[in-house]
Amino acid sequence: MSRTEPARADEASAPTHSHTGILQPVLHLGEVDGLVDRIIADELEAMRSAFGEGAEYAVTHLESPRERTLHRLECPALEPFLDRHAQWTEHHRRRLTTNPRHRLSVPALMTRQSARGLSGVRSCKVCWPNVHGSDPRPLRRLKARGLRAHHVGHMLATEDGSSLGTIVRSAVQTGPDLFGVEQDSVEVVTTARTLYYSVSEHVFIWDLPTDEEAIRRKTELLHRLGSNVTPAAWVH
Ligand SMILES: [Zn+2]
Repeated sequence: MSRTEPARADEASAPTHSHTGILQPVLHLGEVDGLVDRIIADELEAMRSAFGEGAEYAVTHLESPRERTLHRLECPALEPFLDRHAQWTEHHRRRLTTNPRHRLSVPALMTRQSARGLSGVRSCKVCWPNVHGSDPRPLRRLKARGLRAHHVGHMLATEDGSSLGTIVRSAVQTGPDLFGVEQDSVEVVTTARTLYYSVSEHVFIWDLPTDEEAIRRKTELLHRLGSNVTPAAWVH
């Protein structure tokens, strides 16, 4: 900005745009809607093209070394950035009226290989992209008695994060222990095995979206990015 500030006395007597410092619109709001539609079409085209080439990851705020973050494509934290119509709020549309070159940050979609080649990017804590296999496991600790239906589908783990299988069901059971004393215990059935914990024992789960959620989001992505391809990496 190189415009000079108006003198205060003038501001009171002659409140014109040039004196109040408000930028003169160069576009009408009606024109802005058409421009936003074209910008969004370009944004989606870039994302669709990368998606069609097998992108599985996305970097948000790629242009900002302090903010750039790597996500899995189905990450719930990434979702708002993919909804370009929601991103172009009234605030940003108004900014376009004074600066038609105003643009928003678009997630950079990329393959696993490209994501591995990135430097200076942090990994999202919600989706655990773990492209180098060295991100700390997103473990959450809770007491066995705290396991609930909403934990079904999450990975049960040992304290060091090794998988014990995906939780299928869990239930508190009452029965005699080795000495014939009635005790509560928690039976946890996973896809790999059945485990028993005392109610106050700590259990560990991978604090990630469940496979079911991930699949639902991937289906939404296919709709959103309008592609009829199924990247090979998704077929387990
Ligand atoms: Zn994420």
